[in-house]
Amino acid sequence: MISLLTVYREEEIMKSHLIKPFLDESYPVADYGQGIYLYDKTGKKYIDGSSGAVTANIGHGIPEIADAMKKQAEKVSFVYRSQFTSEPAEKLANKLKDWAPGDVNWTFFVNSGSEATETALKVAIQYWQEKGKPSKIKVLSRWMSYHGITLGSLSMSGHVGRRARFTPLLEDFPSVEPPYCFRCPFKQTHPQCGLMCADELERAILREGADHIAAFIAEPVIGASGGAIVPPPGYYERIKEICDKYDVLFIADEVMTGFGRTGKRFAIDHWAVVPDIIAVGKGLTGGYAPLAATIISDKVLAPVRQGSKIIMSGHTYSANPQATAVGLAVLNYVEKYNLTKRAEKTGDKLMSRLKNLKRHYPIIGDVRGKGLLTGVEFISNVFNHMPFSSEVSVSKKIISKCMDKGLLVYPASAGIEGKAGDAVLIAPPLTIIEEEINDLVTIFEESVKEVQSELQI
Ligand code: PLP
Repeated sequence: MISLLTVYREEEIMKSHLIKPFLDESYPVADYGQGIYLYDKTGKKYIDGSSGAVTANIGHGIPEIADAMKKQAEKVSFVYRSQFTSEPAEKLANKLKDWAPGDVNWTFFVNSGSEATETALKVAIQYWQEKGKPSKIKVLSRWMSYHGITLGSLSMSGHVGRRARFTPLLEDFPSVEPPYCFRCPFKQTHPQCGLMCADELERAILREGADHIAAFIAEPVIGASGGAIVPPPGYYERIKEICDKYDVLFIADEVMTGFGRTGKRFAIDHWAVVPDIIAVGKGLTGGYAPLAATIISDKVLAPVRQGSKIIMSGHTYSANPQATAVGLAVLNYVEKYNLTKRAEKTGDKLMSRLKNLKRHYPIIGDVRGKGLLTGVEFISNVFNHMPFSSEVSVSKKIISKCMDKGLLVYPASAGIEGKAGDAVLIAPPLTIIEEEINDLVTIFEESVKEVQSELQI
């Protein structure tokens, strides 16, 4: 993908039968991880500056997580979900009840973020069926969003690049502009705009007919398809008001933003709103095991309980004892070390360091985010915020420089030419300390400086 290093010898690449994201690229071979660092087989050290696309929330190589894994493996790693439940799955579901806001109390475990959002879609449809409204089957979403790669979750994703090949198989769910103040789709500024971006949801519902809309899904802070885009104050309150007015469920996709990442338990907690369904993944196990979940409110589960009594979804590995034991250990770790609060504090430090860079480097157009989910967007013109053309792709150049210097940052773009900008996500593990932030920002600054001078700006 982004590595320009050849750490894998040519003949080894030829021998490899592993399909990697880009077939002909060479990738460093991971050897081990420790804290915020990853080490490859050549001994090179990298700061995991985007937590592996914002997953490794508690950092790498933590002995107490390894202990929890071993203990559970020695007891039982797998039971079939229609025959047994298990202690770790029960305990983790109970913990998620405490983590989630309001009446979002019931957990259905799956294996990936895509499955979590796809299950949310199915649960929303099932909810309306049980309530005698079977025509409510569409889930509206925003452009510049990513909800997953399965056909249902991709249908909800406003990510042009990832939809392109499968368009004929996908539903046209994305229909609302993103709350992207830096490039306002309505050419307005907040607060004079009166939250036109939120009101657009009402127009979309009326256009499609409320009788056909089951839910609206959104990432509370837009992650990989925008670069930590934070909606303006009042946005989600207005969104929820519109959803309630038209009997539309609100699904918060917290796959990237959940579990302390933004300085709150869930990113939606930054607004005075309780969603009907929350999809989670990634940080739930911090990358130590594949696990995700759909967390459902009392309101949404009630008609299912009174009706068919079964959620029409599930996988062989749903509620897997091994993975849920890891999830439990990881959330215990987050609580024990107060990582949500720490993310808020260290996030402020990271943000002010990055904002300071913006004053010195004109190619940095915007620095934004919440907690330790930050985005840096690049521009070619400080007056009109014009992005560089996709051929120049400044983010790719910077990612590559950072990688050479031992810092991993992640590209953030929805591939919508003319609308989306060119940004990177900087989102280190929540355990990062101040000196490590200094190292991260130093490497990032050197990379920006070099790319800017290569562009002769
Ligand atoms: N939702 C969001 C907000 C994501 O960022 C992602 C992945 O990046 C997904 C869903 C899909 O998760 P997964 O890759 O685990 O299927």
